[in-house]
Amino acid sequence: MGDETRLPRRAALVTGSSRGIGRAVAEELARAGFDVCVNCSGEKGLAAARDLADRLAAECGVRAVAHAANVADAAEAQALVDAACEAFGRLDVLVNNAGITRDGLLARMKEEDFDAVVGVNLKGTFNCCHAAVPRMMKQRFGRIVNMSSVVGVAGNAGQANYAASKAGVIGLTKSIAREVASRNITANAVAPGFIETDMTAALTDKQREAMAGRIAARRLGSPEDVAALVRFLASDEAGYVTGQVICVDGGMSL
Ligand code: NAP
Repeated sequence: MGDETRLPRRAALVTGSSRGIGRAVAEELARAGFDVCVNCSGEKGLAAARDLADRLAAECGVRAVAHAANVADAAEAQALVDAACEAFGRLDVLVNNAGITRDGLLARMKEEDFDAVVGVNLKGTFNCCHAAVPRMMKQRFGRIVNMSSVVGVAGNAGQANYAASKAGVIGLTKSIAREVASRNITANAVAPGFIETDMTAALTDKQREAMAGRIAARRLGSPEDVAALVRFLASDEAGYVTGQVICVDGGMSL
């Protein structure tokens, strides 16, 4: 088979991949042969992001770089996408995973807690898509995977800001999917249930048990459970799946 029939090496940017679900996604994509740009919000997470990139390059034989950027800031998001494009010469996959919580009941929720959560989770996703889509349009290939949440579908007491941001991610994803489908670019949302990461580490054992009782699979999910789905949505084979919201929640939302 001649070289011209081979697919180009795919390159991925995973936001918020210094730890948690994002790290598992970066690992999964690197194992599948993608070049990967690892991201964290600032200097604090950069050592972990660099360690991960170095390990992925050594273990998986792919190119891997780390870049700190606060995705809530449009200029930083643009610089992040530019850095990934420069490192790999292309950008095929954008996984918008960076996210934060600032939980509280509506009556007590501060305006800055609403703005911060919407700023990172929703505006950050917009910022990165806005920066990456022109590149994907030129390539006539792209896979966008946006991290939503089951909470964005069903709502959750104490998480009005977070649920609003994750519901917004779904609307954003479906709109982008409609705009870019004819250019061979897909956009899908993944909606995890309760996944064991720093984000859910504050739960007590009792809360954890109560939570598991509401899940058909009777266990919390792992970052790897989510990463496997992202790997499929990022693949060339997933080209006819777009505008979807896929729950990875062990049947919690059934
Ligand atoms: P996590 O363990 O708290 O990790 C969050 C990641 O996002 C970190 O790498 C963090 O980097 C990065 N990040 C935070 N703010 C950022 C910013 N402004 N710019 C760039 N990166 C930023 O979270 P997780 O549990 O893995 O969650 C990952 C995603 O899945 C989030 O979107 C979350 O909402 C979603 N999700 C999680 C669950 C769950 O149960 N865990 C359920 C549903 C959905 P730093 O190290 O620099 O802070």
